[in-house]
Amino acid sequence: DRADFDSETTSICPFCGVGCQVSLKVKDGKVKYVEGINGPANEGRLCVKGRFGFDYIHHPHRLTKPLIRREDAPAKGLNVDPGNWQKHFREASWEEALDAAANGLKSLADKNGGRAIAGFGSAKCSNEEAYLFQKFIRQGFGHNNVDHCTRLCHASSVAALLENVGSGAVTATFNEIENADVAIVIGCNPIENHPVAATYFKQFTKRGGKLIVMDPRGVGLRRFATHMLKFRPGADVSMLNAIMHVIVEEELYDRQYIEAYTENWEAEKAHLANFSPEKMEPICGIPADTLRQVAREFAGGKAGMIFWGMGVSQHIHGTDNSRCLISLALMCGHVGRPGAGLHPLRGQNNVQGASDAGLIPMFLPDYQTVTDDSIRGKFTGVWGSGDFSNEKGLTVTEILDAVHHGDIKGMYILGENPAMSDPDLNHAREALGMLEHLVVQDIFLTETANFADVILPAAAFYEKNGTVTNTNRQVQIGRAAVTPPGEAREDWAITTALANRIGLGWTYEHPSEVFAEMKQTMKSLDNITWERLEREGAVTYPSLSPEDPGQPIVFGSGFPRAGGRAKFTPASVISPAELPDTEYPMIMTTGRQLEHWHTGSMTRRSTVLDAVEPEANCSLHPDTLKRLGVAPGERVRLSTRRGSIEIMARADRAIAEDMVFVPFAYVEAAANVLTNPALDPYGKIPEFKFAAVKIEKA
Ligand code: SF4
Repeated sequence: DRADFDSETTSICPFCGVGCQVSLKVKDGKVKYVEGINGPANEGRLCVKGRFGFDYIHHPHRLTKPLIRREDAPAKGLNVDPGNWQKHFREASWEEALDAAANGLKSLADKNGGRAIAGFGSAKCSNEEAYLFQKFIRQGFGHNNVDHCTRLCHASSVAALLENVGSGAVTATFNEIENADVAIVIGCNPIENHPVAATYFKQFTKRGGKLIVMDPRGVGLRRFATHMLKFRPGADVSMLNAIMHVIVEEELYDRQYIEAYTENWEAEKAHLANFSPEKMEPICGIPADTLRQVAREFAGGKAGMIFWGMGVSQHIHGTDNSRCLISLALMCGHVGRPGAGLHPLRGQNNVQGASDAGLIPMFLPDYQTVTDDSIRGKFTGVWGSGDFSNEKGLTVTEILDAVHHGDIKGMYILGENPAMSDPDLNHAREALGMLEHLVVQDIFLTETANFADVILPAAAFYEKNGTVTNTNRQVQIGRAAVTPPGEAREDWAITTALANRIGLGWTYEHPSEVFAEMKQTMKSLDNITWERLEREGAVTYPSLSPEDPGQPIVFGSGFPRAGGRAKFTPASVISPAELPDTEYPMIMTTGRQLEHWHTGSMTRRSTVLDAVEPEANCSLHPDTLKRLGVAPGERVRLSTRRGSIEIMARADRAIAEDMVFVPFAYVEAAANVLTNPALDPYGKIPEFKFAAVKIEKA
């Protein structure tokens, strides 16, 4: 009976960056069901994850008491059953666990210097929790070795946007597609990964909008597209440069816009001369005629948008890919107007906000560089104590390398699961096992928590209050609908308790106090107050006045760069780091599925979602399966230079014959055992989207 509930609370879906607003119906202290409400991003819509992915919060595996590793525990490894952990850990009081966690980190810092400690925060926590986490590492240990999963998703996009546009966030909300007449969706699969955003894209085509989809996989949106460009994996730059070559050659560009708002156009033009469609066709696999048609359609549109995902960013040339997309939009004047803009679709529900809040090794909140003494002075002034280094810190994968080198000895990991999410998992898990002291704060005993010395039980998203920022720059408020199980506590409160144990003297009693502190150093939050968010539910930044709901489109009259101009940065073709050869002849790419979220810790414990998609699987072309002598549903062994997994194979005609797609949510067949840790030099993002792989019948 859907009318039978005790209370109703509005909050935000905890999964993707769309940031759908939800109403949580609670009965007998448990969330009974979830409905979409009229938030600015979702207008009442929800996808299957938002609708059914909630009962993980009531799962018996929830951590309810702090745990400390037993002295007689077996050697650290991926060997703990989350339902039967007693051989490895013992329950402890909060006092004992917080002391053990803080003293372990502090004594390593005293002995080896603060740089021996590093932290991974979380894009699944609130803005306030992300802010406190980076403050804890910087103020507590004096350096910037703090990062989070943005490094694994859009770090290269942000590097290119900051370089060329002057801001790492989107220039227009995805809902603006309703004012566009042409749009490119490249390197992403919104129907599975941003399903509610995809509904707007579909409506756009129904109204006659021209949708150009570009992806090496035949993603679902191809059914709505005017063009589907299934280019060769890793050949993005050659394809995009060829399209831009046509725009230059046929003078389809917006001369007035380029002159008024950009710089470096002549260099870009000269560079593009080498990339004729005929020359690029054999590299990217798209016929020259199609490249020419697409160039004409995009440049000829009155208002065009470009959306991209991790198919663009997760390459060693991820920053170059984004540079191309930015250049393409700029030369057509498709920025800063209704229906025009650049939009990297963010992955996690608060990856935009966690990045804005400074959970990045090179930037303080609002992307203020750590290398500037006056900026650091401003922060230490607000914080009242604790100077920290002016050197950029290490990134996610660099931190784990530093553990291998003996430079980092202790870590505090909040809500991240590098034992599943990092590339080359054997290397990452080895690093976690080498740490002298690992504190993990989470809602479940995750694969990463297997390696912990102290585990701190945290509240899930629907059990706490805090703000989050979605892909649209919309700051929204999440509210607690139920209480955390057992002794679990809100993340901000746990970090505060740890900070006080290492002598930082924090006095926060509520996340609204943290938000008020953030506003002192973050201009992006001007005119946005906790009270306003309580009242209005969401405000888009920038908000120009206390009454302004915020600006869905930015940079209509110049860019936040020196001189107010955006920049063209030419990009050259760089091959993927590891090409197929006779031993590893195929290409592996990874990603998410509609029903499962990231490393699976939440969705695989959600009854409906796990029932719909219960088994680790990969997708191969039916002809490839035939060649391998494998029937759909049988198992294959996938091997790369880094390891092997066995996994059930599915037939999918949309996959190229030389490719396999592997979702990374399944611990029993963890895709990242296979992935290549080679990094993009600018964004330091690993090449999750391309590895040479051997496939055999298992
Ligand atoms: Fe949640 Fe994203 Fe689905 Fe919306 S589209 S319900 S935010 S997973």
